[in-house]
Amino acid sequence: MLGPVILAASRSDKMRRFVSAAPGTKQVVDRFIAGETVDQVIKIVRDSADKGLEVTLDVVGEDITTPEQAAAARDAYLELIGHLADLGLGTGAEMSVKLSMFGQSLQDGHELALANVRPVVEAAAAIGTTVTLDAEDHTTLDSMFAIHEELRKDFPQTGCVIQSYLFRTEEDARRLAAAGSRVRLVKGAYKEPASVAYQDKAEIDKAYVRILKTLMHGEGYPMIGSHDPRLIAIGQELARQAGRKLDEYEFQMLYGIRSDEHLRLAAEGHRMRVYTAYGTDWYGYFMRRLAEKPANLLFFARSVVTK
Ligand code: FAD
Repeated sequence: MLGPVILAASRSDKMRRFVSAAPGTKQVVDRFIAGETVDQVIKIVRDSADKGLEVTLDVVGEDITTPEQAAAARDAYLELIGHLADLGLGTGAEMSVKLSMFGQSLQDGHELALANVRPVVEAAAAIGTTVTLDAEDHTTLDSMFAIHEELRKDFPQTGCVIQSYLFRTEEDARRLAAAGSRVRLVKGAYKEPASVAYQDKAEIDKAYVRILKTLMHGEGYPMIGSHDPRLIAIGQELARQAGRKLDEYEFQMLYGIRSDEHLRLAAEGHRMRVYTAYGTDWYGYFMRRLAEKPANLLFFARSVVTK
């Protein structure tokens, strides 16, 4: 019930100002956001590597309003990749990007987002790593998949995300389960209408399993993005049935969520990648994490009241 309300608030400027200024917010934000600066996130990359974890790094931000902001987003990723290169941390650290942050919703946004993301993908490839295009709300996906296909002509290892709550995704998965593709499957984190998406949790989970089966039996590289213990167990079983070795798929979870499970899967020999978000424009990312689990909202409310 609360989830859709919080997701609606994630697009409100008034709420953004209120939440950002509230005392106690920072304490809760810190659970999900790895830091505000490149230096802070580099420390997390090193700590993660020491624990046997890989990362995918997200410079938080989305829904920008000017081409200059889109260029600044591109430059923030280039700066990050430059630091990873200098420190020899290229492998094991991938990038995740939201095309809305690269200008996708502005005028001529498709071309602008492609022009801004290409240098990031090039720079990542030059240090031996890759980029995954996050999935945002359903109105952006045709453009995201077209950009993904375009980038893959020169950088076939570029990944993308698909969301099991959308009716379209089973067909997208069949198309994407081809040799060399890297596909992260998630349930989906946006407020979507019943005309395009399952609303019932059980339906979303069943679709997740069907789609994961397609990916596992396909020729690409499935990335299982979930904290759900049932889906993680099913993912392991589907990989076994498809005859996949441990390095032929991976698990992904978000920084700050079920951290013990990250370590458990890595200790079992699985490739475990932690989606690590950092930066100052954390509001949209943070609100989606609150929407996923109402208990987070209670924790947030309590920390605001007790400050
Ligand atoms: P759930 O059933 O929601 O959660 C299972 C259990 O995990 C919960 O019971 C709880 O214990 C724990 N948990 C889950 N979420 C939280 C939380 N916020 N706080 C505390 N505990 C929690 N969505 C997109 O739409 N596009 C993307 O590109 C995208 N990328 C993602 C990348 C990764 C690596 C991951 C893990 C998720 C991503 N998501 C993305 C979010 C995803 O769509 C879900 O909203 C989110 O993962 C919650 O679903 P779940 O599969 O973990 O299952």
